[in-house]
Amino acid sequence: MRSVNEAENIIFNLAKPLNNQTDIETVDLLTATGRILASPVTSKLDFPHWDNSAMDGYAVIYQDVREASEKKPAVLKLVEDIPAGYQPQSNIQSGQAARIFTGAVMPQGADTVVMQENTRREDNQVFILKAPEAQEFVRHRAAYYQAGAELLPPNIQLNAPEIAVLAAAQCTKLNVFRRVKVAILSTGNELVTPDDNLQPGQIVDSNQYALAALVKQSGGEPLILGIIKDEPEALKQAISKAIANADIVLSSGGVSVGDYDYVKKIIESLGGEIKVNSVAMKPGKPLTVARFPMPNSSIYFGLPGNPVSALVSYWRFVQPVIKKCSSIAEGWQPKFIKAQTNDDLSSNGKRETYIWGKLDLIDGVYQFSAAGGSKSSGNLINLAQTNALAVLEVGKSSVKAGEEVKVLQV
Ligand code: AMP
Ligand code: MG
Repeated sequence: MRSVNEAENIIFNLAKPLNNQTDIETVDLLTATGRILASPVTSKLDFPHWDNSAMDGYAVIYQDVREASEKKPAVLKLVEDIPAGYQPQSNIQSGQAARIFTGAVMPQGADTVVMQENTRREDNQVFILKAPEAQEFVRHRAAYYQAGAELLPPNIQLNAPEIAVLAAAQCTKLNVFRRVKVAILSTGNELVTPDDNLQPGQIVDSNQYALAALVKQSGGEPLILGIIKDEPEALKQAISKAIANADIVLSSGGVSVGDYDYVKKIIESLGGEIKVNSVAMKPGKPLTVARFPMPNSSIYFGLPGNPVSALVSYWRFVQPVIKKCSSIAEGWQPKFIKAQTNDDLSSNGKRETYIWGKLDLIDGVYQFSAAGGSKSSGNLINLAQTNALAVLEVGKSSVKAGEEVKVLQV
């Protein structure tokens, strides 16, 4: 049995990022949300594209207005009106000004904008009542970004801010990494689908659904392989198919020590090398992790069948692996924070214990509240509406309400 830290080291080292030449695809900007950029993006456009005004006001020559004051206003003749989106026609000479609006292109000759509030207008004359700073309220071409420089680096996730930048830069076709393919199969003679007529003793295969949802949330592409009987031949066929078609395989059930727990034997018979046999955590002890050398170097996670154990194992180990494989440079690691617990938490102190509950940020303090009801790992009902796992390390058998506890955000 491995400690959680040992298991984490082994598992995270198995995860190899996708290749930036062979594992890429092109997507439209509108469907790029959440995808990982595979190559750097540059733009042919400067930002701003032109010298433009940051204010509603008057475009002037600084020398004309540098001594202007309420008592001795500078008086300028208006030669043009420049709304946003319009190409100015005039070349401002000494003694002249142009009416200009926010975002509008600066006219030739002018170098400064005087805000409207510091002026008075009379017909086609403007009185400048206060001297501006030189070049005030002018956003200069290329001040934010120079055409040809790197606009976005590779290996970042495309979210709203990046999408906005790409749209503005007119980059509408993007090279992104393909999604990591994750095969999901559930093992157990007792399992039926949510649509089946439930017979006595049977259990609905909820893991398939939960894992598919989690894989999507982690940015992967789930490949649903369904329910597989606890029969060596059926398992062999399903696992062969999984490793032939996926980067990562998630099976649930069949990795404990029961008479029908065949998964480990089948992994080995198919050439998989078992790297982790069990982990000193609760829930999640039976977690089995293997690497298949061929054909896709798939990483195999044999998750425990218990719904809560399967999910806790996923959050702790699988999600970071999917994210790391997806080639994101930063932020794939599990996110632990310190919180104050609102409830007494306890463990037997022998295995690292994960207690599911809700994390809230209240007045700047993270607060953890354990889920109500049974803490049995067979109880999946009280997992609903949770978003965090409190972690009690080995040797720590209790944390009292009000004390600090380590929390994994999920
Ligand atoms: P196992 O790890 O196969 O011994 O299963 C442990 C427990 O989890 C048993 O009570 C199973 O019925 C239950 N279980 C196994 N697989 C699933 C699944 N896919 N969905 C829901 N419960 C399951
Ligand atoms: Mg089973």
